[in-house]
Amino acid sequence: MKTAKETWETAKGALQVQVSKANFDTWLKDTVGISHQGNQFVIGTPSAFAKEWLEKRLHSLVTKVLISLVGHEVEVQFQVCPDQDSVWQGQNHSQSKLPPPVGNPRHTFENFVVGGSNRLAYAAALGISEEPGRQYNPLFIHGGSGLGKTHLSHAIGNEASENGFKVVYTGSEQFTNEFISSIRERRTEEFRSKFRNADILVIEDIQFLVGKPQTQETLFHTFNELHDTNRQLVITSDRPPKAMTTLESSLCSRLECGLIAQVEAPDLETRLAILHARAEEQQVVIDEAVFDFIAQRCQRNVRELEGALTALIADAKMAQQRPTLELAQEALRDMPSDNLGPYATTPASILKAVADHFQISLESLKGRKRDNRLAMARQIAIYLVREKTNCPLQDIGKLLGGRDHSTILRGYHRIAGVVSTDPAVQRNLHQIVANLPM
Ligand code: ADP
Ligand code: MG
Repeated sequence: MKTAKETWETAKGALQVQVSKANFDTWLKDTVGISHQGNQFVIGTPSAFAKEWLEKRLHSLVTKVLISLVGHEVEVQFQVCPDQDSVWQGQNHSQSKLPPPVGNPRHTFENFVVGGSNRLAYAAALGISEEPGRQYNPLFIHGGSGLGKTHLSHAIGNEASENGFKVVYTGSEQFTNEFISSIRERRTEEFRSKFRNADILVIEDIQFLVGKPQTQETLFHTFNELHDTNRQLVITSDRPPKAMTTLESSLCSRLECGLIAQVEAPDLETRLAILHARAEEQQVVIDEAVFDFIAQRCQRNVRELEGALTALIADAKMAQQRPTLELAQEALRDMPSDNLGPYATTPASILKAVADHFQISLESLKGRKRDNRLAMARQIAIYLVREKTNCPLQDIGKLLGGRDHSTILRGYHRIAGVVSTDPAVQRNLHQIVANLPM
């Protein structure tokens, strides 16, 4: 009997010839088969946006294809499981004698759009691919989902291999799985030598090691071995090392000893530049107003930004029409807007929850008047919006009555600086978060 994963891979093969390449690459390629029990078939999608899109547009086709494969009725369910990065998981270096793949060839430095939100990470990544082990070791890139961590990791791999360096990639889940099976199969030596021979070791999404002390310890040793011989480590995570609560402190301090670079949500200018670049790649002419509309709708996640553009282009092709503003509005109508967000925790809902908690009006939260209570409420609002959403500083400033980005950053640091020590602040945060819509 085939596993859900295998069945779904076969189904993807069948679907690939039935949908456009753009749609396949955007919506289906990174999905995974999660489970198949009775009539229920669960498919994991990389984002809420992709889940919505698949439910809306491909549910019946997917069902049909699966029924023909398994030979009985199936009820298809899509489920968000972010960071199931197929590029990584599909690879199994230990069984292949070929040089390890260098990641998605589309993920290069050339087609990475640089802006204030990612400049440091980009520059560091580029430096590393030219001179690994020389400057910052490790490079620790963190930031929310869909903000370019994997793109930069692959760009390092692509560029560095071209420069003749040996790059080994792994996702932290794959690292864990291989570690466990190497113990079971008594191949730990092989496991270790695979990593030891790398010029550059990239481990993605290390947040998954939280709560796995044994794997952390192995990583710690691998890390030391490589670091001591000046080999380069690149680590990505959805949060900074300090925020990974159960990380062994020895590992945590190792991770912090190089350069920590955050990728943030791109500002409007960067979002527009990304849309332009993608449209150009696909050789589609699109009006500025349309770009603007999409860039406003998708603020927090580049994957969704690109997905929205792809959806529009697909719709325009289907309708044999130019991608007009009307079509864009239509195409994105039922997509979760960033002002609704995948989990409905949005800047707006946070501001409202903060205002309610402090029993003040939204106007006074956004206003200019200052007293202790208002100042505290504003700082907490800033802190929570920044922590809970990918909203860029500039946009937080706009939401809070047109404050500038340095004011917002100051407000953020006021709270961030005391959050682990000030019980009153903790209590406030706790109560507000408890009341946020999920
Ligand atoms: P993460 O690993 O942080 O979740 P990814 O690297 O997978 O995010 O990025 C999601 C998508 O957005 C990818 O298709 C990637 O190519 C694209 N992307 C992200 N940031 C940029 C950027 N600055 N310029 C161009 N494309 C980007
Ligand atoms: Mg990633």
